[in-house]
Amino acid sequence: MGDKQYKPLKAKKKFGQNFLQDQSVIERIVNAFNPQKTDTVYEIGPGHAALTEHLVEYTDDLNLIEIDNDLVPRLQVKFDMKGNVTIHHKDALEWTVPDSNTRIIGNLPYNISTPLLISFLYQADKIKDMVFMLQKEVVKRICAPAGVKAYGRLSVMLQYAFDCEELFIVPPEAFYPRPKVDSQIIRLTTRESPAKVDLKAMESLVKQSFAQRRKTIKNNLKKIITEQQLIEVGIDPKARPETLSVADYVNLTNAYGSAGGSPAK
Ligand code: SAM
Repeated sequence: MGDKQYKPLKAKKKFGQNFLQDQSVIERIVNAFNPQKTDTVYEIGPGHAALTEHLVEYTDDLNLIEIDNDLVPRLQVKFDMKGNVTIHHKDALEWTVPDSNTRIIGNLPYNISTPLLISFLYQADKIKDMVFMLQKEVVKRICAPAGVKAYGRLSVMLQYAFDCEELFIVPPEAFYPRPKVDSQIIRLTTRESPAKVDLKAMESLVKQSFAQRRKTIKNNLKKIITEQQLIEVGIDPKARPETLSVADYVNLTNAYGSAGGSPAK
């Protein structure tokens, strides 16, 4: 058994392949995730199974989602005898989270990390929590509080649905091949009862609000929301978009929606 019958593979840039090789980092990530026997766990992009080999020891229901045609047969050989592992040969961007209370982990391919996170945002009601490796700069953006430069669309949208927690930084030397940037671990825990909002409308409104960060919120939204309407929901029209809280964006969406500024029903 094992994958000795295969020739070494070249890492594929198009799939964002940077494989973890530092055992202490691998163990820290698995510890941060803290998998339990009865959890339903999905790992995005298992690659050569750096994290998987640990996860398989802890949980009875481990699911792997891998897109690479060359890696999938190796994973099948490696985990063939393990009754607790299911391999899904597919694109994670097309994956629908199946159950409630799903836990997700992954050293994400950086080229698709933002669309993947947005896909999980729309499925947050079925997710318990997620631990991901991302580019450090993306983790900083996601976790940034209102008022700082890094706070933007991704911060507002993800903080709306998840409690976002920065964990440790991982240097390029922990991978082969080495990425050009630092990486960081983040934990996203689904909020129990976020305020009700039409997510699509909020996404569109937040996008418009941050279209020109140096402009005021009034100027960014002038085509859809009047100065008076901003004042009515307690927002200073002269404020910059990065000073508005997540709650401000929820209130604004609920009051005026995004389609031509017509009030949400
Ligand atoms: N988990 C491994 C590790 O830590 O060494 C590999 C991480 S590597 C950064 C990203 C992995 O995601 C690769 O195995 C890659 O083939 C896979 N991948 C890339 N795009 C994907 C997609 N759209 N859907 C599923 N897997 C994908």
